[in-house]
Amino acid sequence: MVMPLPFLTRRPTVPAKDGASWPHVIILGGGFAGAHAVTALRDARVRVTLIDRNVYKTFQPLLYQVATAGLNPGDVTMFLRGLSLKVPNMRYRQGEVEGVDPERKVVRLDEGQKGIHELSYDYLIVANGATTTYFGTPGAEEHAMPMYTRSQALSIRDRIFSELERSSREAGFSHDRLHVCIVGGGPTGVEIAGALADFRMQELDILYPEMDPGTLQVTVLQRGDELLKEFSDKYRQYAADELRDRGVQLRLGHGVKEVGYDHVVLDDGSILESDITIWAAGVAIPEAVSEWGLPQDRRGRLSVDDYLQVKGFPGVYAAGDIAGQDDPLPQLAQPAIQTGQAAARAIAAEVAGKPRKKFSYTNLGTMATIGRHAAIAEIPVLGGLSGSLGWAAWLGVHITKMIGHRNQRAVAMNLVSLYGGTRATHQPNPVVGEVNSLRAARIFEEQAPHRLFGANAGATCPGNAVDAADEADEGAADVAEPTQD
Ligand SMILES: Cc1cc2nc3c(=O)[nH]c(=O)nc-3n(C[C@H](O)[C@H](O)[C@H](O)COP(=O)(O)OP(=O)(O)OC[C@H]3O[C@@H](n4cnc5c(N)ncnc54)[C@H](O)[C@@H]3O)c2cc1C
Repeated sequence: MVMPLPFLTRRPTVPAKDGASWPHVIILGGGFAGAHAVTALRDARVRVTLIDRNVYKTFQPLLYQVATAGLNPGDVTMFLRGLSLKVPNMRYRQGEVEGVDPERKVVRLDEGQKGIHELSYDYLIVANGATTTYFGTPGAEEHAMPMYTRSQALSIRDRIFSELERSSREAGFSHDRLHVCIVGGGPTGVEIAGALADFRMQELDILYPEMDPGTLQVTVLQRGDELLKEFSDKYRQYAADELRDRGVQLRLGHGVKEVGYDHVVLDDGSILESDITIWAAGVAIPEAVSEWGLPQDRRGRLSVDDYLQVKGFPGVYAAGDIAGQDDPLPQLAQPAIQTGQAAARAIAAEVAGKPRKKFSYTNLGTMATIGRHAAIAEIPVLGGLSGSLGWAAWLGVHITKMIGHRNQRAVAMNLVSLYGGTRATHQPNPVVGEVNSLRAARIFEEQAPHRLFGANAGATCPGNAVDAADEADEGAADVAEPTQD
């Protein structure tokens, strides 16, 4: 028997004239919820328009690997137009959604040309997700680096390598450290801290032999007393122990009150040096959504009923991070995938004149990785996993859950080169981009004169300048004038 190869077979694209009279479904946002809503509508007699500001869908769970140079940016993104391979009744349209008018059933779209364009719909799935929030923390928007999108992950990666190059020029005569502070001890914060710690242990001394690996200091700052609140105590403790074993400093029980160019201020008044502050704390619904005239819960999510229909607005559904059920689901990939599919099925049922089914969530478990051979997974029925077993499960799930064969193969191959072998056989080759350490050095000198390399090396941010000045005096004989470029 000949086995059909799924990636070699394709359905024909529906010519534009076909289906012109079919109801029009607009899906706002091509993330987990939106992309899975599209695929769930492949056999429905509807025309689907998928709108997103980006031409790609991002697999956020592996963004931290992009930020730490383990994966290529294209490994974690998929061209949304590629969905029409499987869903011939879908068209993609790039644009920035400015608003929704549910009374007139139109979506207002900024497409870069003059004026705002309006698109009419019969059914709408709002799936534009959430965004980073700084909780009004002074200096955070200016100085901290968020990690919600691919371009933000790339900015972090380029900054890390620019700062490493800058620091490496001063190695041997500077007391300064390269401090990376990660604000937020949820999965994103833990994963990025673990990846940086792995990089320091496995690769830093090979790639930067002139630097002491201890120069790179990684600290996780968490307002609560424990990391990873979505996991049970045993696994929270495991994650904290693993991070500490890998040399990551944990500052638990304190929130960040302010962020500066080279420091963060905690709510007890203490000041920590931070050359790169990564913001991995909290998400919120975009403020513009409050102007769309749709009901929102106290966290800004759109209030939906048991069918995921926005309350009081027939034909308008919400899915993913933006959907707020009476008993809200966590803002994670699985709820987004399942609500996206369910909203699409409800529309397909309406169009076909069949009864809709109430949405019911199937909990498939939660996972987080700490680093090489260390991950945690809590899976209903199977129970909990940690260590190498948890890590193998984490790798398997993250590779198979990606949309796109190219993505799956590229991620598998790159993760094998990153993690395969032992420390003795490992051949580091990080995915680097635009590294501009000259610019980084100029900005550093402008913004942090109190920590200039050379004569003032070791001096720290204004709050703890006294201790650091002492340290600098001790090492004064070894220091040289700052390098000019
Ligand atoms: C760094 C990071 C790591 C994560 N790790 C995990 C993990 O390990 N496991 C897990 O389960 N979950 C994880 N999550 C959470 C998970 O990614 C989200 O819950 C999920 O992406 C939500 O899907 P969504 O479709 O609702 O929104 P998104 O996936 O965010 O998609 C929203 C889409 O809407 C588009 N959009 C938004 N506004 C507009 C507009 N005005 N106009 C046009 N387009 C617009 C965006 O470009 C985007 O493509 C992580 C999130 C982040 C940021």
